[in-house]
Amino acid sequence: EYAALLRRRKAITERKEAPMPKVTLKAFAKINLTLDVLGEMAGGYHSLETIFRGIHLYDLVTMEKKDRGIHLECDKEELPLGPENLAWQAAELLQKDFPVIGGINIKIVKRIPVAAGLAGGSTDAAAVLLGLDRLFHLQLGRQKLSEYAERLGSDVPFCLYPLAALGRSRGELLEELPEGSEMWLVLVKPPFGLSTGEIFDHLSQVEISRRPDLSGALKALEEGSFGELCAAMGNVLEASAFDLQPKLAEWKRDLAGPVGTGPVVMAGSGPTLVAFFDSEEKARQLAAQWGQPRWDVLLSKTLTRQELEKRFILTEETEGERGE
Ligand code: ATP
Repeated sequence: EYAALLRRRKAITERKEAPMPKVTLKAFAKINLTLDVLGEMAGGYHSLETIFRGIHLYDLVTMEKKDRGIHLECDKEELPLGPENLAWQAAELLQKDFPVIGGINIKIVKRIPVAAGLAGGSTDAAAVLLGLDRLFHLQLGRQKLSEYAERLGSDVPFCLYPLAALGRSRGELLEELPEGSEMWLVLVKPPFGLSTGEIFDHLSQVEISRRPDLSGALKALEEGSFGELCAAMGNVLEASAFDLQPKLAEWKRDLAGPVGTGPVVMAGSGPTLVAFFDSEEKARQLAAQWGQPRWDVLLSKTLTRQELEKRFILTEETEGERGE
């Protein structure tokens, strides 16, 4: 393996043209193991208490140096490619503060369902912050990166280090948590979107019959207990989402039925429903039963620290440039 690496490095150094520095990284999605709304804050925001968990489902974000401007490409046609895209905003934010970022080309291979409650836009933005930091040697460090992330959106700070964390306020005040035991997930994305604003606004008009058990969930993560974590999970936004879209409640019941074991919990402000399993086999069984063409179904699992540490895919150009 080492010999292969040396050969590759030699090939790069011998190449005549100067390599165009670029970097690719995996931008991981998140789910919420618990999500509680504690009240309203100034500015109409809701104060949250939520356990975020990163999952092994990712977009690929590639950044390449250009002379000027911010250019965005994406394989999903419905996504905006200008200033409305959160990845574009992330590049602009850093470019304003760091003139060394002359121009940048960003390419997103979208695998995370859009407008699904899985923080797809937020994680692309976080990836751009991390990627530009690496590409232009900004050496921002965790604190500075988090400050930029917070300016882009309340889910973006978690997406910088998406393992497990307790999020408070709008979700941007983070406290790292142990990852708990590995879980297999089946993600079911209904064929409609739900507006985050509408879900929160409607919350005051519904009764919340069940709240997640935060202390139980924290203890379960600490002890790595799948059973206890399942008992403690929950998302109060389901009350609002299910009232607005009753089909969701039906699907949650149906999903929990056939294979058994873990619970089904909506991700963030939905509408994706997440079924939890302690074994791959059971998760595969459910995914097969709910598979295409009726549903948008994805099999996934919780993200490990090792997987997160390997999120940078160093291209030959980057390796050559950095001499790594
Ligand atoms: P969150 O869980 O953070 O609330 P989400 O998963 O519900 O986010 P996104 O996938 O981020 O939702 O998409 C929400 C909206 O943001 C979409 O309507 C989309 O047009 C817009 N958007 C902007 N940039 C992106 C991006 N890079 N990827 C996906 N959506 C984006």
